[in-house]
Amino acid sequence: MKIYNTLTKQKEEFVPLVEGKVSMYVCGPTVYNYIHIGNARPMIVFDTVRRYLMYKGFDVNYVSNFTDVDDKIIKAANEAGVTASDISQKFIAECKKDMADMNILPATTHPLATQEIDGMLEMIQTLMDKGYAYKVEDGTVYYRTRKFAEYGKLSHKNIDDLEGGHRDIKVTGADAKEDPLDFVLWKPKKEGEISWQSPWCDGRPGWHIECSVMSKKYLGEQIDIHAGGEDLVFPHHENEIAQSEAANGKTFANYWMHNAFLNIDNKKMSKSLGNFFTVREITEKYDPQVLRFFMLNAHYRSPLNFSADLMESAKNSLERILNAAENLRAHMTQEDTLTDADQENLKVREELVQKFCDAMEDDFNTADALAAIFEIVKLANTTVDGASSAYAKELYHTLETLSGICGLKVEAEEEILDSDIEELIQKRQDARKNKDFALADQIRDELLEKGIELKDTREGVKWKRI
Ligand SMILES: [Zn+2]
Repeated sequence: MKIYNTLTKQKEEFVPLVEGKVSMYVCGPTVYNYIHIGNARPMIVFDTVRRYLMYKGFDVNYVSNFTDVDDKIIKAANEAGVTASDISQKFIAECKKDMADMNILPATTHPLATQEIDGMLEMIQTLMDKGYAYKVEDGTVYYRTRKFAEYGKLSHKNIDDLEGGHRDIKVTGADAKEDPLDFVLWKPKKEGEISWQSPWCDGRPGWHIECSVMSKKYLGEQIDIHAGGEDLVFPHHENEIAQSEAANGKTFANYWMHNAFLNIDNKKMSKSLGNFFTVREITEKYDPQVLRFFMLNAHYRSPLNFSADLMESAKNSLERILNAAENLRAHMTQEDTLTDADQENLKVREELVQKFCDAMEDDFNTADALAAIFEIVKLANTTVDGASSAYAKELYHTLETLSGICGLKVEAEEEILDSDIEELIQKRQDARKNKDFALADQIRDELLEKGIELKDTREGVKWKRI
């Protein structure tokens, strides 16, 4: 299996640190709002990478953080007149809901930056002890960038070119840094901001130190894969490398994977252009599976353009897969055995499964992998009539497995039984009695999603399938 490594700018054979195991860290969102579809791309892409590794039998330890302390969160909290933690907790819950909708597996661990401050204090102290960090008058702690000789190795930037671009930054006053390239590890609190005690000042961590610390705590000092959007290569991931490798004295991550940008109608997504979409807005219009299919229909390192037309075409393509699955299910009616013709057709299937795997082995080329799925769809549609049930079952299993690696579900929607509905209605009545209206509403919404509408009448709760 080959992975394109941003560090070496080439596809490399994947060799894990420990046989049969993969440790993987994916930078997660800053939670101050609903996630947008640009956030969804790395989530979907790297979830698919994880699913393929699992399919190959690897035990994957997948860590993805939530940045729950940040200027934007504090700003949103001040505007809403609530605490920073109210904002972050609300949007972590909303983000998890979107992730579940997009069929993204929960991470093995979803660490929160605010719960890992001790580890950050420890790593910053190590960096100070080793001469890689220093404190200035107002208590800010900076990383001494030039001391890390390999700085720039991930983004392939020359350190002197970087400095040229930063010459206008002021270097006097209480927050004076030694060098314009130095970046913040710890900063003093401002009035009314959330803060923690530290040996340097009451304050909070810089963004980059968070990921270095959470990756170390949950995956160890050296990991297999570190991933995120390409906008994180510089400075975020470059700074993570500088921190982790200076503190731990080890290579931080062996493979660095980055997905390309997502544009909207060929323009950069931005609030000011009015082309900014949250995942929630899109999944209100489309089945979340359509968004997932759309994202995987391009290679993750190619820029992706989002438009209504392309989503329509993704919807139609996905439907072809779902229809083929339904057709196969309709043929899975009896216990029988494969005919000679079926056996021949299954040889074609083997070739197509191999084609799918070859595409995934080549730096996760999901576009080609989906193309192989469509060839299986075509095989199913052209051969299942007159074939045995056993054959339909075989093909269905293949379609289900390969689609599942892409996180696409082809199973029939499970029908909810009358007895389950009655049980949920009773639970909702109990919740209302206990004045737990949030739970009551949640149950009503859950039922509605399954196509069950409730009506409160004088004679009690009535329900119908819609
Ligand atoms: Zn990060």
